[in-house]
Amino acid sequence: MSEMRIDRVETVIVDIPLRRPHRFARARMDAQPVLYVFVRTAGGITGVGEGVVPGGPWWAGESVETMQVIVERYIVPVLLGRGVDEIPRILRDISDVVAANLFAKTAVEVALHDAWARHLEVPLHTLLGGAARTSVAVTWALGTEPAPVVVEEALGKLDTGLHRSFKLKMGAHEPTDDIARIEAVAEKLAGVAGIRVDLNARWDRLTSLTHLPRLAEAGVEMVEQPVPGHDISSLAAISAALPIPVMADESLHTPADALRLVTAGAAAIFAVKTTKSGGLRASRGIAEVAAAAGVPCYAATSIESPIGTAASLHFACSSPAADWGSELFGPLLMAAEMLVAPLVYDTDGLHLPDGPGLGVELDPARIREFRRD
Ligand SMILES: [Mg+2]
Repeated sequence: MSEMRIDRVETVIVDIPLRRPHRFARARMDAQPVLYVFVRTAGGITGVGEGVVPGGPWWAGESVETMQVIVERYIVPVLLGRGVDEIPRILRDISDVVAANLFAKTAVEVALHDAWARHLEVPLHTLLGGAARTSVAVTWALGTEPAPVVVEEALGKLDTGLHRSFKLKMGAHEPTDDIARIEAVAEKLAGVAGIRVDLNARWDRLTSLTHLPRLAEAGVEMVEQPVPGHDISSLAAISAALPIPVMADESLHTPADALRLVTAGAAAIFAVKTTKSGGLRASRGIAEVAAAAGVPCYAATSIESPIGTAASLHFACSSPAADWGSELFGPLLMAAEMLVAPLVYDTDGLHLPDGPGLGVELDPARIREFRRD
């Protein structure tokens, strides 16, 4: 249909300031760089998608800068002149010219879905089969700071009523110190709030088997990705040894990864991020494998702005298996509101918007304000 033909594609990098610095095991960020991809159709509709990684290329090799080059130089020529309702064929043609680069592909794939849904005047989740739920619980992420700092932040967040669980980043300190830090936090918070930890793949099998049982004893309810992404057999061994669930994140990008993890019995929960998987369809594929295996999915984050957050929310709300909550807190960590009307967070969690497409509108003034030259 000619109205849906793609006329123009634009990319913009913005650096969105954060309310506080966010620390990972080996990285820290004061602002979150985000790539927006705008797909404009002959019918005058614009779809937007977001490419984003947690602060830089340390997580999976991509950055907003690499994404912009991949999109502009290699993906845009595939898109121009095509219909936004041809997504499966477009994705196949993109994969013919670009391997990997799943974060860059996500920005494009989400923009296509947003534009198509806006043409049809339906919410994006309609294209994913409809809503299984209309809100998701939102876990708050705490950094690698000392226990008193982390506890104070957590107590403040509990007072807001928006969060009932916390995920603590680990791996920045020596294992014994790190465990003592988490035990001190758990002593104050276990029983009041759910405490989970994310090692971001910093430990090996022996370190994990030596130290993680203490966290389970301290009341930590879930451990995320203690070992490197490729080390599925260690993840399985740790899963088997611990009395609490292990969640796969760095080990899980594609539906094929999900199948491998299920076969190995390596993880009790899957961290699904639309950003790391190439978009909504691959995320859905992972959720279908998970559903078949009886593995719950968690709507995890790369610390998206409200655009990427809305995309992940449409995925999570339309996927029955995504019933382990979310950490879609990105917009709450950002010091600027990027939308004309903000996403709604309340004591039920984050609410699915019901307007056409993603159901949210970027504020052009904010784009101009934070646009990188
Ligand atoms: Mg993680």
